[in-house]
Amino acid sequence: MSEEKEVLNETPAVKEEVKTEEKAVKKYRKNVSKKKVCQFCQDKAKAIDYKDVNRLRKYVTEKGKIVPRRQTGVCSKHQRELANAIKRARVMALLPFQAD
Ligand SMILES: [Zn+2]
Repeated sequence: MSEEKEVLNETPAVKEEVKTEEKAVKKYRKNVSKKKVCQFCQDKAKAIDYKDVNRLRKYVTEKGKIVPRRQTGVCSKHQRELANAIKRARVMALLPFQAD
């Protein structure tokens, strides 16, 4: 089951697949033990600090890319702020644009 999902994620029609995947996730919620909650909502953070590099690093891949929301569980509002914070941090040279 899970193997099939991973294969689907790599097909070009990602958006379609994501929708169906979300449905599947809801259907199989019983099997999924932990529910992802937005870490920033939980902390009641009003603004995401671009200087908080240790925190931002969790949402950036090894290559320096911003991790997609469905992997981190961050809500859309905070994902937007997070993306801005990461971009700002990159400009300030706190995070890499692209690691080798
Ligand atoms: Zn949030």
